[in-house]
Amino acid sequence: MQVVRITPRGYCYGVVDAMKLVRQVAEDPGTRKPIFVLGLIVHNRHAVEELDRYGVISLDGENRLELIEQVSEGTVVFTAHGVSEAVRRRAAERGLDVVDATCPDVTKTHDLIRSLAQEDYTILYIGRRGHPEPEGAMGEAPESVYLIETAQDAHDLDLEGKKVAVVTQTTLSRWDTEETIEELRRRYPQIEVFNEICLATQLRQEAAVRQAENCDLVIVVGDTRSNNSNRLVQVVREQAGRPAYLVDGVHEIDPRWLEGKETVGVTAGSSTPSPITREVIRFLEEYPAGQASASTARD
Ligand code: SF4
Repeated sequence: MQVVRITPRGYCYGVVDAMKLVRQVAEDPGTRKPIFVLGLIVHNRHAVEELDRYGVISLDGENRLELIEQVSEGTVVFTAHGVSEAVRRRAAERGLDVVDATCPDVTKTHDLIRSLAQEDYTILYIGRRGHPEPEGAMGEAPESVYLIETAQDAHDLDLEGKKVAVVTQTTLSRWDTEETIEELRRRYPQIEVFNEICLATQLRQEAAVRQAENCDLVIVVGDTRSNNSNRLVQVVREQAGRPAYLVDGVHEIDPRWLEGKETVGVTAGSSTPSPITREVIRFLEEYPAGQASASTARD
């Protein structure tokens, strides 16, 4: 089967730096043990398993203020998604050493939210409920920020005569967000928009849509919890009009997707380790020769 390796794909600079930092800290004999990661370092099972091998404990859960109550000693790592000021305060109160792996692009959004709140803006934060990044960002100014997923979510807010700013999560779909913002502008012409979708996300989405046009289908390698991986599937389907499927690895490829197809594109979320993507590419390049081994893995 012909494979189009969609480029750029896979680990972004924020994830590369976060993984490197945690490995360094784990190997440093001066680090206070045990080492806990508050949440998953990135939303990918393989990346989390890699840190397990370094003896790093990942605490899974949606609410970081609750998670930190489970840590009474050692070192705590803040993930690339960022944490709220309340979590930082609680880590200090509990006497924990802190390693901050927050992506600089997320920090930039936190700074923006704080400064908008100081200028009395009401902030509509477009993001995904239950994802750690909105939790951290909203925690910068809890009284001023409202999480919305669609323009409709802003319906019940009283925004008349208020200064309103719209800020976006870093890993949303560019097209989806533009639609929501257009609708918000129609209802509230006074809004000011701060598009915080990061460059890594934009480049991966644009490449996937552009390069999918030469493919019969696209396989996105990533974890179901990874927002940016899910958005890659979404933009390929909606913007390029091609079938797209999310797989955690080779074992999740369904041969029925490939029936009658000649060219498959492969991309990966910014939290997907390259070896997992390479395995998928190799399998597809050898397809149908590798079909039997994939079926075995699936069983
Ligand atoms: S996806 Fe963007 S914001 Fe998130 S870690 Fe990567 S570069 Fe940073």
